[in-house]
Amino acid sequence: MAIDRNLVVLIGGVGGAKLALGLNQVVRPERLTFVVNTGDDFWRLGLKICPDLDTLMYTLSGLVDPAAGWGVAHDSDTVLRSLQENYGFEPWFRLGDKDLATHLMRTQMLRSGNTLTEVTACLTDRLGIRARLLPMSDAEVPTIVDTAEKGELGFQEYFVKHRWQPTVRSIRHQNCEGAPVSTAVQMALAAADIVLFAPSNPWLSLAPILAVPGLRATLKDLTLPIVAMTPIIAGDAVKGPTAKIMTELGIDVSAKSVADYFGALINGFVDDIRNQPFEDDRLRLARMDTLMTDLPAKVSLARAILAWIEGWAS
Ligand code: GDP
Repeated sequence: MAIDRNLVVLIGGVGGAKLALGLNQVVRPERLTFVVNTGDDFWRLGLKICPDLDTLMYTLSGLVDPAAGWGVAHDSDTVLRSLQENYGFEPWFRLGDKDLATHLMRTQMLRSGNTLTEVTACLTDRLGIRARLLPMSDAEVPTIVDTAEKGELGFQEYFVKHRWQPTVRSIRHQNCEGAPVSTAVQMALAAADIVLFAPSNPWLSLAPILAVPGLRATLKDLTLPIVAMTPIIAGDAVKGPTAKIMTELGIDVSAKSVADYFGALINGFVDDIRNQPFEDDRLRLARMDTLMTDLPAKVSLARAILAWIEGWAS
């Protein structure tokens, strides 16, 4: 039976999208809102690219390349190869031909004066997605990564061009003072029954959302279940640089460190059964198998988390 409560999920890209797919099957779509990181967004070839929004759109619409977890399945790269062969364009950021269609539509609609929230609503509608995807802000808030070897890098230079190998010294969110939380996000949070942080990278995917002025304060004022979960399983990230960044920032690589990162913002935390148990008087703690290897695992984890939270009331 579909869960009939308003759920707002703060979320990044590929890791978060796994849980999003499970939630999409167990929550009524009109009750399900994703507030998506746009700190990874950038401009390339004059096109606005929103990697985390795209990953969620492709995942929830079934277009996604299942092996990669991002991009469009069975996509070709004719345009990118022509750009490289004819004009020497550096192809370090993969842009498939079908994927380019999304960036062209988005850019054209932005240029016509629509906000990113409006554009995303239109794109998701066309792709048949019934849950709501809200960019964290309509303003641009690019994540800048300061590294020991290369100095400051734009997020995609750090993540894709340099394959997250440079050592991270600090991370900042450019222009975040000028990026108010959107009305749509505010309204979604005001109507929420449950807020969930996806198991996305706290430092790269969730920190940009929390950096949007007003968002932390709004969350702090809510008196409802606000639950985060571990992206760290058995001492490592399932994928990507989360554990590496924690080490580089001098943070112990553990689920407890992730719970501590959210601090007073959360009142519940889902840990993985493979991790060393820890205690925290402030938090309701659950231990589950959080490794989402296939669709049934994603659905059953989504269901288990929501059933656990429903049980708080009784
Ligand atoms: P990105 O924006 O594409 O880097 O993806 P996210 O930030 O949304 O997610 C990356 C995080 O997801 C990593 O820290 C992974 O450890 C975590 N992750 C990926 N798959 C799983 C999974 O199956 N279970 C859990 N608990 N975490 C996962």
